Amino acid sequence: MKRRHLQSILCICGSIYLILAHLGCQTKQGPIESSTTPPQNIFLLSLDTLRADHLSCYGYPRQTSPCIDYLAKQAVQFHDAFSQDSSTAPSHMTLFTSLFPSSHGVSKQNCLNQAIPTMAVFLKARHYATLGFTGGGNLSTSFGFDRGFDTYVCQDILGTPGDTTYLDERVLPAIMEKQANHSPFFCFLHTYCIHDPYVPPPPFHNMFSHDIRNESIERIRAIEQFWDMDLLQQRRHFWNIIDTSDPEHINFLRALYDGEIRYTDSILQKIFRRCGQMNGKTGTLTIIVSDHGEEFLDHRGYFHANKLYDELVHVPFILHWPDRFTSGSIRSDRVGLIDILPTVLGIVGGRSPNHFQGRDLLGSAHHEIGTDRPIFMDNMRRSLLKAGLRTSRWKFIETLDKSNQELYDLLNDPAEMSNLVEDTTLSEVRQSLESQLHQQISQNLKCFKKQSPQAIGQYDQQTRQELKALGYID
Ligand SMILES: [Zn+2]
Repeated sequence: MKRRHLQSILCICGSIYLILAHLGCQTKQGPIESSTTPPQNIFLLSLDTLRADHLSCYGYPRQTSPCIDYLAKQAVQFHDAFSQDSSTAPSHMTLFTSLFPSSHGVSKQNCLNQAIPTMAVFLKARHYATLGFTGGGNLSTSFGFDRGFDTYVCQDILGTPGDTTYLDERVLPAIMEKQANHSPFFCFLHTYCIHDPYVPPPPFHNMFSHDIRNESIERIRAIEQFWDMDLLQQRRHFWNIIDTSDPEHINFLRALYDGEIRYTDSILQKIFRRCGQMNGKTGTLTIIVSDHGEEFLDHRGYFHANKLYDELVHVPFILHWPDRFTSGSIRSDRVGLIDILPTVLGIVGGRSPNHFQGRDLLGSAHHEIGTDRPIFMDNMRRSLLKAGLRTSRWKFIETLDKSNQELYDLLNDPAEMSNLVEDTTLSEVRQSLESQLHQQISQNLKCFKKQSPQAIGQYDQQTRQELKALGYID
């Protein structure tokens, strides 16, 4: 019965956004110049597994992101950006399609329906050459991520710690060639560098370890042995030296995770220096995002997926476009990865098709409808298991078999520790959020039925190896 219920709800969908209540969030529109010329080039950088609250420009006390901070000062920075899923494949497909995970249905077993256009398809139709360089695995061609790309390579630009040969000799020259020819291009860069195992190269491996115990210094020496291993071996050996029940080890993990962020930031600086963003070169739109965050026992676990708490769904989102934004600004309206494709399409002069479930965040309609809306999120790692709604004040999460409901007061409990769902004084709040959540799920169900995904069957050998190395399959 439970399975049948899940299957029926799994067939999710919807194409129109909930038009939702205004709840008092302030929004500050970035300074906009008169130029409406589309960008010559578009960079979309996805830094897998990067939680927003570990970036300096999002308030983190460690200096993990000097390059991203520098860019953010000239960009529009969305402080309240959320992923629609805490798993890699569904989250990225939402970024690419402006459909909720339970609408496009891409998960471990399912590939995107051929009829659904992606960001690369839209931009190619507008005469951008399309380049994709990704870490593969959950972004492999098996799921349909290569659709619309002239070139789509599944090899992480930062595969081995400290080794940038592939980036220097293959990726950057390919981008430079496009720039030299003045050929407009869309380049999607994705890396698993911040994803576990956390083995940053020197000097990043001990950059944030000064306040941890001597035993951890020994463990840092141990990880130096892992640098030359392949990812599968790195992961196995790394977790062998970690005692996940020891609080001190959590500090150690965080220090290494932050080292990975700082290392990745240094690589971004290298890319941006070559491509012109650091010297204010105009004509290029650069978007920095992540697909989800990472947990360090915030809610009794590690890694990501299966949960919808903020450490896993609050992600960075920075829009850098010197031609249009003359100086930095902060946007505090709640937005999602689902909004990025409509926003990009608006920037290049296109109109969002009716099936999009996100909004053009720079378009007038966003501000007319209301910038303070609940953000919907769900969990599609294997099938639709749970869904959530986040407002400025509340987070409501429900498993789809109705076995569990959670309600958090984010104003007084930002860490989402006290489940208030049984609090009778909050019955109206719960009922309202529950009703809105079910309305969105119902819309998603219709969308899913209309354009249901295709079963993948078996992964090709490379994808299988990549997923295994990342710990997603056995
Ligand atoms: Zn991911």
